[in-house]
Amino acid sequence: MTQKYDAIIVGAGIGGLTTAALLQHAGLRTLTIEQHYLPGGSSSFFKKRGYTFDAGASLFYGFGSYETGGTLNLHRRIFDRLGIEVKTIPDPVQIHYHLPNDFEIRTHYDKERFLTELIARFPREASGIRKFYQELEDVFNVIGSFPAGSLENLEHLMFIGVRHPLKVLKLMVQTMKNMGKTARKYIRNQELLKFIDIESYAWAVRDALATPLVNAGICLADRHHGGINYPVGGSGSIANALVKGIRHFGGEVLLGKRVAEIITRNGKAFGVKLSDGTEYFSRVVVSNATVWDTFNSLIKEKRFRVDNSKFDIAPSWLQLHLGVKKSLIPEKFNVHHIIVEDWETYDNIGGTIYFSAPTILDPTCAPDGKHVLHVFTTALASDWQKPVSKNDTDYLAAKEAQANQLIRRTERLLPGLSDAIDLKLIASPHTHERYLSRYLGSYGPLLRKGQYVLEKPQNFTPVRNLYHVGDSCFPGQGVIAVTYSGVSCANLICKKLGTRFQYL
Ligand SMILES: Cc1cc2nc3c(=O)[nH]c(=O)nc-3n(C[C@H](O)[C@H](O)[C@H](O)COP(=O)(O)OP(=O)(O)OC[C@H]3O[C@@H](n4cnc5c(N)ncnc54)[C@H](O)[C@@H]3O)c2cc1C
Repeated sequence: MTQKYDAIIVGAGIGGLTTAALLQHAGLRTLTIEQHYLPGGSSSFFKKRGYTFDAGASLFYGFGSYETGGTLNLHRRIFDRLGIEVKTIPDPVQIHYHLPNDFEIRTHYDKERFLTELIARFPREASGIRKFYQELEDVFNVIGSFPAGSLENLEHLMFIGVRHPLKVLKLMVQTMKNMGKTARKYIRNQELLKFIDIESYAWAVRDALATPLVNAGICLADRHHGGINYPVGGSGSIANALVKGIRHFGGEVLLGKRVAEIITRNGKAFGVKLSDGTEYFSRVVVSNATVWDTFNSLIKEKRFRVDNSKFDIAPSWLQLHLGVKKSLIPEKFNVHHIIVEDWETYDNIGGTIYFSAPTILDPTCAPDGKHVLHVFTTALASDWQKPVSKNDTDYLAAKEAQANQLIRRTERLLPGLSDAIDLKLIASPHTHERYLSRYLGSYGPLLRKGQYVLEKPQNFTPVRNLYHVGDSCFPGQGVIAVTYSGVSCANLICKKLGTRFQYL
């Protein structure tokens, strides 16, 4: 058995690609294996009839300049390190919320403008609003001053501990805090607290009481620093650039190849076996698959199984990828929207509607005279019968019915939507599971209420020489979060393999 590679990475999601790119740049030999024909996982794109559709993510942090983004502008730092330019277009509004009781609010890049508009609706809460958002800012200022690295690497902890002792202490206190409880320290108004819940639910699919303050601080403060930036050409431009970087430094990326097994013996990983029987061996293996796919499917030793009591399983999605007439979108329409019709049901399955129109920023992603819309809501695989074939008429009819209902609800935002559709593609939780190889099509594991942010697994696993990266790991879901996880994983592996890791 020859170990041709230092590291084999299972999955070319943003977590896996980031790890591979940084390891390869550090001089290690990597092989990344992706089952899909496209890299990027939940942050990839696909093309149809002249449209470029984002498969999942389309709201991106992490491209801020060195002056505004602290150290959390990880995409910028990584692409600078790789010597690759990813052009982006700034988006002046993170999300335009359409909430019950005619409550409309936009989370502007300009923080003062956002706070002024929020205070205009809740004048009596002015001081509490400022104090709450300042707490988020404090988290950002602390985390954004540390270089990204692994919390499991003692050397890294000592490095930041010696340089920033007071900030480390402050962060330790902040990691104990919860977003919802912090909001309740300053704010009484129930509608405002609901808004803070949807600010959390928008990316965490949990209310603020179930969300750690540090995760909230990263997203909700960075939108006013690094801001939101859309990659020219669509979300897949990020994954494509990472693949280019890996290959440029001599790494290998195989697309359209499924890993059937992470080969282990006596609790130690030393390679992978593909579904076509090919085997590859390496010093370490990194899994970018979900915690359930990794330990209940790819690892065959039963003692490493993860049962469903450890984490909550986030729902999957019903997604519509629509090509529509350009005239549907009014002037000055924002790119990202969230619609809540009723506070009683917003966190039920299908209760909140997410909406993006990325071609407002980048018209090249649609044919002339058209726009791309991405409309989605939470959905459960268990509520959908599995299609028995491509032409399963019951399944196709269920998709059509659910899609039409979602379109009707979205017409509150865009009247005439159903008549303006040129192309309609519908993805159920089973579609998500099939294309992205994610257990139940889930958005990933979530901490249970009351669990502490550091209880989320880091990159070490109980299987020796196996590392884990992506949204099953700390800090969690979101493209910038899995990028952080990738940086941390590369930092840890470099330490393990005795290779110098250059901070970003
Ligand atoms: C609908 C939707 C909208 C979203 N919107 C946003 C957003 O606007 N902004 C944001 O920041 N985040 C957003 N997210 C979240 C974000 O996209 C994800 O958290 C992140 O991309 C996950 O990255 P990952 O590397 O952990 O995993 P994944 O993206 O799941 O990548 C894992 C990869 O591993 C591959 N793989 C798995 N098993 C195998 C195997 N056995 N063999 C080979 N390959 C395998 C998969 O095919 C996949 O490509 C969204 C997610 C969804 C679903």
